[in-house]
Amino acid sequence: MYIIFLGAPGAGKGTQAATVARGLKLTHIATGDIFRQAQGQKTELALKAKEYMEQGKLVPDEITIQMVLERISQPDCETGVIFDGFPRNLVQAKSLDKAFGQQGKAVDSVIYIKVPEEELLERLSGRWICRKCQAPYHKVNSAPKVAGVCDRCGGELYQRADDNIETIKNRLKVFSDETAPLIDYYTQSGKLLEIDGEGDMDEVGNRIISALRK
Ligand code: ADP
Ligand code: ZN
Repeated sequence: MYIIFLGAPGAGKGTQAATVARGLKLTHIATGDIFRQAQGQKTELALKAKEYMEQGKLVPDEITIQMVLERISQPDCETGVIFDGFPRNLVQAKSLDKAFGQQGKAVDSVIYIKVPEEELLERLSGRWICRKCQAPYHKVNSAPKVAGVCDRCGGELYQRADDNIETIKNRLKVFSDETAPLIDYYTQSGKLLEIDGEGDMDEVGNRIISALRK
């Protein structure tokens, strides 16, 4: 089973993708996480990706597509994948379809988590994330019990370098210019499942599970 999670920055796709992947025992591939993890290792890939991420721009397609195609050729992707943050434009979507076509595979469903823009800005500008387990917090809406410490694993909380107001605005613009066309693309192939992303995490999670069951 191959499922894509689509949504603007702050829509909650990372959290929901991780939960669904655990539930369905699928491999979770989050391109943003892979790029961020690479930062610590100072690889060539990391250094190239960094300058784009800091500006809220997309990392160039040739880097991203090659990385994803390599990743999905590994044995743990044989039975299925949850894609989180990929594809993010039409070129990436078509490359994935082409690669899958050659392997006799196909994207099964695309979960599009929809959240109004004012809410996205509010969520991202107050967001803190656990360095260890990636659990997200919000300084007002879901504050940790102890400031700066993850409730789940005790890890240190940090604000992502791209969660500042200027970069957030760029990321939202990139979403509407480059990623939103995928909503049409996957609607045309009958794969899109639109989910209301407002409300608490469990509520949204239940909407996703019931959409996938149908
Ligand atoms: P968000 O969806 O909240 O912006 P991500 O962690 O998914 O967070 O992505 C962070 C950044 O990583 C993006 O702004 C972009 O620079 C880069 N990135 C992630 N996925 C892709 C992709 N498929 N193509 C190009 N760049 C990507
Ligand atoms: Zn944690």
